[in-house]
Amino acid sequence: MSFVDVIAKKRDGHTLSREDIQRFVGGITAAEIPEYQAAALLMAIVIRGMSDQETAWLTEAMARSGDCIDLSDIPGVKIGKHSTGGVGDKVSIVVVPLAAACGVVVPKMSGRGLGHTGGTVDKLESIPGYRTDLSIDEFKRVLRRIGASIIGQSASLAPADKRLYALRDVTATIESIPLIASSIMSKKFAEGSNALILDVKTGDGAFMKDLASARALAETMVAIGKRRGLPTEAMITDMEAPLGRAVGNALEIIECLEMLKHGGSEDLTDIVVRVASRMVVLAGVETDEATAADRVRGALGSGRALDTFRRMIEAHGGNPRIVDDAGLLPVAPDRELVRAPRSGYVERIGAAAIGRASCALGAGRTKVDDPVDHAVGVIVRIQPGEPVREGQPVLELCHRGGRGLEAALAACRAALAIGESAPAPRPAVQAEVR
Ligand code: URA
Repeated sequence: MSFVDVIAKKRDGHTLSREDIQRFVGGITAAEIPEYQAAALLMAIVIRGMSDQETAWLTEAMARSGDCIDLSDIPGVKIGKHSTGGVGDKVSIVVVPLAAACGVVVPKMSGRGLGHTGGTVDKLESIPGYRTDLSIDEFKRVLRRIGASIIGQSASLAPADKRLYALRDVTATIESIPLIASSIMSKKFAEGSNALILDVKTGDGAFMKDLASARALAETMVAIGKRRGLPTEAMITDMEAPLGRAVGNALEIIECLEMLKHGGSEDLTDIVVRVASRMVVLAGVETDEATAADRVRGALGSGRALDTFRRMIEAHGGNPRIVDDAGLLPVAPDRELVRAPRSGYVERIGAAAIGRASCALGAGRTKVDDPVDHAVGVIVRIQPGEPVREGQPVLELCHRGGRGLEAALAACRAALAIGESAPAPRPAVQAEVR
């Protein structure tokens, strides 16, 4: 059977065999299948979908397309964490040192921002000196010493996903539950954790716009994990508005430091505490969630999580003094405010448009190898649900000499809606799948 027949099989709504899928993944990894054929199959998958069995085979094949890290010689239970991506999503940067301060070992491979969503790796690289390109041996040394390490995706890990993701990004084939689920889970299988917590975003700034599709994605990933014997849980969290108050690389690190020192905005705190508590339970440090949450709040309040963050930065070659002096982080000198056109309540701040605004200022990239400006972004001064007076600043744009400002302002104005009454509150954590 030629590869054209495999494409036609999926195009016509039939089920692919394990061999078909292995051939696809093997061919992509070895660059033997031309990108136009791979893109055609991806589009057929987007339109026709995949059965649970096909998705599991695809995940396994992608995980085995490269190395799998063996963390078994590191003491402690290793808990992975992954987000499906959003705007202002800084949860990992707080949760990784926080969970480690509670006795969990957290190995984390993160991605760069692409499109309107930000990336943890770009945010951490705004810390002077912080290296996200540790070798696997260095990664393991940091984990053994600190219990927490966040690095970028190693080239040898799930290389099939790396190629497919880049292709999906330019062929409108990202938004597909089997493709997103296999992409994320293949990387998590290769990462070597003992259990996994997933933060599945839903709303305007997420790939899954509504709760039903976010739940379907969460259920698919949880099932894939369990089928492999990897305990996996998911939280479905709100991404209708930017999470917290800062969007943009260094601005988000500053917000993380604030949260680790004095507490954060309600939406961010809710998600951080819930995710970290589940990690503490999954690691067996505590047996119930209420006690785990007490431990997590204790690690936040006592400064132990902040200290772990400081040590993690230092172990990665970064300047630990940023923890005490956020002025050492790059922040663009120029400001522009978006003011409320009338009095009332902030009804909506569309996350996708704010993400696009931040990208327009230079914080994100439209192509994988675009450079990013760590110092620019958008600050949400008044969050949805809060009252506002006419003329009061709602959004603050940090820009560099007006670069991208016009487009960013247009996106910010379009993102903002002021209503007469407070909108119904949206819970930060909308559902859990176990
Ligand atoms: N994040 C990933 O790693 N892969 C996807 O397909 C979507 C989000």
